[in-house]
Amino acid sequence: MSDTPKPPESNVTGHDYSQRGHLHYKATPIIDFHSHVTMTAPSDQANGPAGGSGAEGTTAGAETMLALGREFGISQTVTMCPAQDIAPLRAKFGDALLFNGMINKKPDEPDDVAYALLDRFLEEGVHIIKLWSAPRGRERGLTVDAPWRVECLRRASRAGLRNVMVHVGDPDAWWEHTYTDTAKFGTKPEQYVPFQRLMKEFPEFNWIGAHMGGDPEHPDHLQAMLEEFPQLYFDTSATKWQVREVSPRTREIYGLVCRFPGRFLFGTDLVTRHGLTAEHYVSRYWCQRTLWESDWSGPSPVADSDYKHPNTANETPTLRGVNLPEDVLRKVYFENARRLLEPATAGN
Ligand SMILES: [Zn+2]
Repeated sequence: MSDTPKPPESNVTGHDYSQRGHLHYKATPIIDFHSHVTMTAPSDQANGPAGGSGAEGTTAGAETMLALGREFGISQTVTMCPAQDIAPLRAKFGDALLFNGMINKKPDEPDDVAYALLDRFLEEGVHIIKLWSAPRGRERGLTVDAPWRVECLRRASRAGLRNVMVHVGDPDAWWEHTYTDTAKFGTKPEQYVPFQRLMKEFPEFNWIGAHMGGDPEHPDHLQAMLEEFPQLYFDTSATKWQVREVSPRTREIYGLVCRFPGRFLFGTDLVTRHGLTAEHYVSRYWCQRTLWESDWSGPSPVADSDYKHPNTANETPTLRGVNLPEDVLRKVYFENARRLLEPATAGN
């Protein structure tokens, strides 16, 4: 019927998210290593930059998200938020939040803008810096090895920072629409060349490749990088992407994570925005835990515009759980993150 309301993107299948009996993991709390918890305000744009209202904004979105996270066992969340949001969030949530500073600048801004931003983040006590380097950022100069970013890495290293997160790559599917102009955006394999050069140049950092290194479609590629770079980690964030691409290859991904259990970090990529429903947050927590710790199988509850319906009537991809063993989950959910987030001590 044309006047039937569209189901929300967080639940297109009418799923009952209170069904959690298959989420059996209880051995430790869970750390969400990749999120965007910010101050929020009614002026937030649905697709605009996340956060930035600082002390003028409200912690309401963050409170909603973190309270729901606790229901899923999340005790600590690492967030990328604008520098001005850190103090009010820390005042409200204490150690439940840790911070990751995104090092960006506009193309026409001098390099000093990036260096000042780094200094501000370091003063605020971030545990990680992030170099967002998706192909769609290229025209804005946001390549992973832009000279001003390399200089930020040198300065961060001298300041004793230990962790650098990068977003390189994007779903394979995006090269079929958004990135067909490879002269402009590069091919997917080309995204990894400067990243690998940086890992060689800065072996002192733990490098975290966001979103399963940006390549859950190719576990063999992820394995080759883990073998070559002992300081490389991957986070599991970007729920729709991982559900869509991990589910069809659970055996390969299971094998990969079990061969390198110390190198994966649980993450959601949840973003707080003014007015987001509780179910939005619940959907991502539910899907992430279902994907990694269970053998649940069924249509993913979450809308996914990148899903093509190969010979099925399903609106969404099949979510098929990887069902990792408990000793591996303990590392992925908690221990690996705990190790990376320990304060640097003298002599380390
Ligand atoms: Zn993110």
